[in-house]
Amino acid sequence: MSQSSLIWHNGQLKPWAEATVHVSAHALHYGSSVFEGERVYATPEGPAYFRLADHTRRLFESARLYEIDIGYSEAEINAACMELIAANRMQSAYVRPIVFRGAGGLGVIPSKGSPVEVSIMALEWGAYLGDAINDGADVCVSSWNRPAPNTIPSWAKAGGNYLSSQLIGFEAQRGGYAEGIALGTNGLLSEGAGENLFLVRKGKLYTPTTSAGILAGITRDTVITLAGDLGLEVEERDLPREALYTSDEVFMTGTAAEITPVRSVDRKPVGSGRPGPLTRALQKAFFGLFDGSTTDTRGWLEPVSSG
Ligand code: PMP
Repeated sequence: MSQSSLIWHNGQLKPWAEATVHVSAHALHYGSSVFEGERVYATPEGPAYFRLADHTRRLFESARLYEIDIGYSEAEINAACMELIAANRMQSAYVRPIVFRGAGGLGVIPSKGSPVEVSIMALEWGAYLGDAINDGADVCVSSWNRPAPNTIPSWAKAGGNYLSSQLIGFEAQRGGYAEGIALGTNGLLSEGAGENLFLVRKGKLYTPTTSAGILAGITRDTVITLAGDLGLEVEERDLPREALYTSDEVFMTGTAAEITPVRSVDRKPVGSGRPGPLTRALQKAFFGLFDGSTTDTRGWLEPVSSG
C-alpha cells in the first residue's frame, strides 16, 4: 500500500506529512468520525471513480445521523475527490474521505459550532484480501456479535463502528483465517468485518437484509443489480448460520474486498472448496465494468476530471 503525496484537508491540498490533527480532537476520544472507502479504477478511457455520488451520499447520511455538519455540499465533496486524484496523477486508487469532529473541548456532546474537519486521502491499494480474490478466502464465524440494530446505527459508516470490526478481524487473524463473519445478537448472519455477505443455493443468491444491523454496502447493491442483469434471482432475507455451511457458494463484497469468494467457513469447505460459477460470473461482470467488457449502463463510472 503506498500513499498519495497530497491530501485534501479542509479545502486545501497539502503534503501528506502536513495533514495533521490535534490530540484533543473529539473524534479521537469519542469515535465521532464518518468516512467512506471508494475506488478509482484505471479504465481504457483513463482513471474513473466508481459510484462516487453514491458514496458521497452515504457520507452525508452518516454525518446526518450523528448531527455533524460537513460544511461542504455533496457536489463540493465530489469535486474535491476528483481534484485529489487529478493532482496526485493517480491511475487507480482507494480513496478515503473522512469527516470528523476536531479539537474544541472534551464534552461528549459537542458545543454548538464546534469544529468539524474534512479530509480526503488516496492510497494505491490492490486486492484487500490478496490472492483470495482468485483462490477464495478461508473465513470463520466470529465469537463477537455485531451491535444490535437499536444500539449503534449500522447504516452510518462511522469510525466507532470499526471497533467491532477490529475485534472480529483480530480473532480471525489469530485463528489463521483471512476474515471473520459476525452474527447479529439475534444469532442470524450479518456481515464480515468489512464486507457484506452473499450465499448461493440452487442457482439463487441470498444476502442478509439491510435491517439486519449491516452496512448498506454499495458493492452489495452493485452485485444485486448485476445479478439482475445476468438473469439471476436475489433474495434479501434473514439467514441462519447453518446456511453458511450448506450453501453451494459464498462470497463477500466491499469496495476494498470487491467480490471475494469464500472457499471455507470454520475449515469446512464451501461447495467444491473452490470459487463457484455464479461467483465467477459476477466477478466477470463486475471487473468487466473497469476493462470495458461490461457496459456501464447506469453511469456508475465517472472519469477523473480536475474541475
Ligand atoms: N460492511 C462493512 C462493515 C464495511 O466496512 C464495508 C466496507 N465499506 C462493507 C460492508 C461493504 O460496503 P461497500 O460495498 O459500500 O464498500
